Amino acid sequence: MGEIKETVKSIAEAARQEFRDVGAADALEALRVRYLGRKGVIRELMQQLGSLEAAERPQAGRLINALKEEIVALHESARAALDRKDSVARVQQEVDVTLPGRPMRMGKPHPLTQTTDEIVDIFARMGFSAVYGPEIETVHNNFEALNMPLDHPSRDAFDTFFIKGRDDLVLRSHTSPVQVRAMRAARPPLRIVVPGRTYRPDTVDATHSFMFSQVEGLVVDRDISMADLKFCLNEFALAYFGEGVRTRFRPHYFPFTEPSAEMDVSCIFCDGGGCRVCGSGWIEVLGCGMVHPNVFRAVDIDCEEYTGFAFGMGVERLCMLKHQIHDMRLFFENDVRFLSQF
Ligand SMILES: [Zn+2]
Repeated sequence: MGEIKETVKSIAEAARQEFRDVGAADALEALRVRYLGRKGVIRELMQQLGSLEAAERPQAGRLINALKEEIVALHESARAALDRKDSVARVQQEVDVTLPGRPMRMGKPHPLTQTTDEIVDIFARMGFSAVYGPEIETVHNNFEALNMPLDHPSRDAFDTFFIKGRDDLVLRSHTSPVQVRAMRAARPPLRIVVPGRTYRPDTVDATHSFMFSQVEGLVVDRDISMADLKFCLNEFALAYFGEGVRTRFRPHYFPFTEPSAEMDVSCIFCDGGGCRVCGSGWIEVLGCGMVHPNVFRAVDIDCEEYTGFAFGMGVERLCMLKHQIHDMRLFFENDVRFLSQF
């Protein structure tokens, strides 16, 4: 019995060493056969059991079985280690891990969305919050509530897409009806900007489209004057076009404001000297004015107590000016070569 105990112990020691040092799959297989094979070491030990005395056999059998289990485990872990080494070697052989990764193209907002966001951000810094409204609007909100009754001459100029079978609905021709909604929903003071898409039956060319984007703004409070309007829009022009840009206000006519004006900025290409883009040195960028009392009356705001100003600008135009884009149709063609430049 002492003899077999010694034998098992020395076989175990040798096996641990050999399985630990094995470096290749074929050598590992040879080890497996030598220890665990049909004519292997374990088998041979089992055969020697017969020559032991009957009383010693169970204990010797347990020793041999324990040895077998240990060798099976040694074989498993040696094979796992070899597999790991193999796959690392294969990756190093087949893949140059020092190469940079393959780029994944990142998407980004459309240039008109970027411009809209920029405009809204600038006004947000002056305390304006953005509000939104439906693109299918009631005729009343789009026209009557904005001081454009049926027989009003400007109803022609702002004529729009009507909805078949519903003569009370239109595709909004400006974002101003959202101002009407906002004034009905909340009492002054109000300080809002309204970004959104608008529709007019224009034929499509380099500077016109039947769909375009606007950002309008509205301030209603006590003691709001034309001076507040000028300061606010002047700040906007500086923030959007850059320091040094100058503004001027020309009298104009809009049915929903009185007095009304158009704001020009000094040409950002020639600094006001006069060039092919501007001609005169000035570029028209937006319309504005003091809210007409009839607009306040339509939403039950006391025009003796409150005054306000409103303005509206075309997002396409502002984006085209800043990035020197000469054809508005580029915005809607979805050509990635164009869009990826912004
Ligand atoms: Zn110019």
